[in-house]
Amino acid sequence: MEKERRKEKNPDSFEIFKITESGLSDESDQEIIQKETENIDDTKVSKLSYHIKEIIKIIGDDPNREGLKKTPTRYAKALLEILSGYSSDPYKEINGAVFNLDYKGLVVVSNIKFFSLCEHHMLPFFGTASIAYLPKNKIIGLSKIPRITKVFASKLQVQERLTEEIGKFVEKVVGSEGVAVYISAYHLCLAMRGARKEDVVMETLFFSGKFKSDWELKKIFLEKIKKSEIDK
Ligand SMILES: [Zn+2]
Repeated sequence: MEKERRKEKNPDSFEIFKITESGLSDESDQEIIQKETENIDDTKVSKLSYHIKEIIKIIGDDPNREGLKKTPTRYAKALLEILSGYSSDPYKEINGAVFNLDYKGLVVVSNIKFFSLCEHHMLPFFGTASIAYLPKNKIIGLSKIPRITKVFASKLQVQERLTEEIGKFVEKVVGSEGVAVYISAYHLCLAMRGARKEDVVMETLFFSGKFKSDWELKKIFLEKIKKSEIDK
């Protein structure tokens, strides 16, 4: 995986580390997939498969035809993988990777891609999350913020709660002067059904500490986000 790490100096004298998601993983994708597959509970798979087979019957198809025969099991496994957040502990994901450092600048981790299921329709919503914090003598390992995002996204969610949960958790573990979270996502429940608004994007923001009161800081964060959205 390509590592990309840029250090920029912004006009308002905040030093900004901008880290793109691609360079953050210290574990190969294969290892992560293997771990997630190993964690899948066979009892849950068979219980879910039974009900998924019933769903296929109710919607009017034949669960025994060739193409659908293994679908209930496949779907059950996929669902448990997508919703792995119920069996993950965000503290474990951090694995003690909070370090003492007297760095007074801003840390921005942007364009973290995530996938989640909306709790109202159990249909996917997906997009990117950008998280910033102003350290108070402590920083968090670079790969950890995308992992935290994944744990909270891998549950039945609403985007508003996801945004807040990530922000509050980062604040709790880093003990910073302030945290900002921006999430932009597409919701398939809006695109595929009902209003069929396929290109509508939902944006949510969370601010804590200095991000709440310091308008300059808020502006810097929002400009960074806008820039990384354009660079995408
Ligand atoms: Zn929905």
